[in-house]
Amino acid sequence: MSANTGFHNRGQFLYADEMPVEELARQYGTPLYIYSAGIIRDNITRLRNALGPDILMAFASKANTNRAILSIMAQYGLGADVVSQGEMMRAQAAGIAAEKIVFSGVGKTDGELEFAVEQGIAQINMESGAELERLIALNPQKQVRVAFRLNPDVDAKTHAKISTGKEDNKFGIPADEILYLFKSIKDHKTIKPVGLSVHIGSQLMTIDPFREAFHHLANLAHQLPDVETLDFGGGLGIVYEDETPVDVVEYARAVHEILGPLGKKLITEPGRYLVGDAGILASRVVDIKKTPGRPIVILDAGMNDLMRPALYEAIHVMRPAVEKDQKEKAAFDVVGPVCESSDVFLTNWSMTQPERGDIMALMNAGAYGMTMAGTYNTRPLPAEILVDGAHHGIIRKRQTYDDIVKDEQIPGWMNES
Ligand SMILES: *Cc1c(COP(=O)(O)O)cnc(C)c1O
Repeated sequence: MSANTGFHNRGQFLYADEMPVEELARQYGTPLYIYSAGIIRDNITRLRNALGPDILMAFASKANTNRAILSIMAQYGLGADVVSQGEMMRAQAAGIAAEKIVFSGVGKTDGELEFAVEQGIAQINMESGAELERLIALNPQKQVRVAFRLNPDVDAKTHAKISTGKEDNKFGIPADEILYLFKSIKDHKTIKPVGLSVHIGSQLMTIDPFREAFHHLANLAHQLPDVETLDFGGGLGIVYEDETPVDVVEYARAVHEILGPLGKKLITEPGRYLVGDAGILASRVVDIKKTPGRPIVILDAGMNDLMRPALYEAIHVMRPAVEKDQKEKAAFDVVGPVCESSDVFLTNWSMTQPERGDIMALMNAGAYGMTMAGTYNTRPLPAEILVDGAHHGIIRKRQTYDDIVKDEQIPGWMNES
């Protein structure tokens, strides 16, 4: 990464590439998602260099579905891992070819399955025998490539709410059932079993659960000679505070050592790794509230804008857009304005005394930030901008009050007396 790419300090100022965050926040308003194109490109390149050029990188688009972000993925030749028809449409609209799209997700509707068949995507990752039954009943007239998602019963050692590979999770299919299902449709005229997939969770910080899951995948593939593709999922953790994540080189070594010898086409589904550290949520201090306990910093961003702390107890460290001259720090709680006690970003956070109107950046908000945002408390969705060197521009306009209420209506009978 060049010195002036990404989020860094110049003197007292936090910069996004060549632009002071303070200036961007004043120009575009807050709350504001700011992404650095350079960081995304660096992340893609680092992962591709580690894995090698032959592995299809299918960006798990639920991490960030903005069309501008997806179009960077398209420019770099990435595919997409999608979990709904809407995500499939977004990926295609951004220029990602159907042949590079894999469709995961535990509750694909008949309509979504039909749409995927029609588009001719790379593969549909089946999550259950029941789902396969429905696909068969749809009697597809075009050829459809299916893979089976293995539930390897592996503990990802991550937060319970982002763990997907244990027997009691709703995701994937046990190995013995996959053996049966795969063989049961071997001679089907349009449905072609081509692959296996596995994804045991997100924000994994150790290599062992990956290795374990890859071994389960390899063992199953050995028993199914017709398998063409092995999709080993996503889940690479990133640094939010001071953790040590899995080294991508070590990760790639596990892939090549365990899955490489099978000689299959490999697919990976990175989400967070590509975009997590490429975004921040810039916010303004609305008030500083004195309490009998710690003073509370109230931001104009809330849990509706960035849900991860409320949902997963996630930490997004906060940096001021402009550092103060004085250096003494005190402890604060940092909260949003939403009427929920869980709308807390940071507890006992050490920082210099803020003032009303200060701009703050919640860091590492590029993944599962905007895509999870909602309008609870009738709060318009934040704007998103992309910065690339000295270029900056809106990639999603701030929602308006009218946008929020435009689909509501009063049925005629309510007015009848
Ligand atoms: C969410 C998801 C991913 C991406 O996970 P990250 O932790 O963001 O890399 C990959 N595959 C599937 C099936 C997913 O649901």
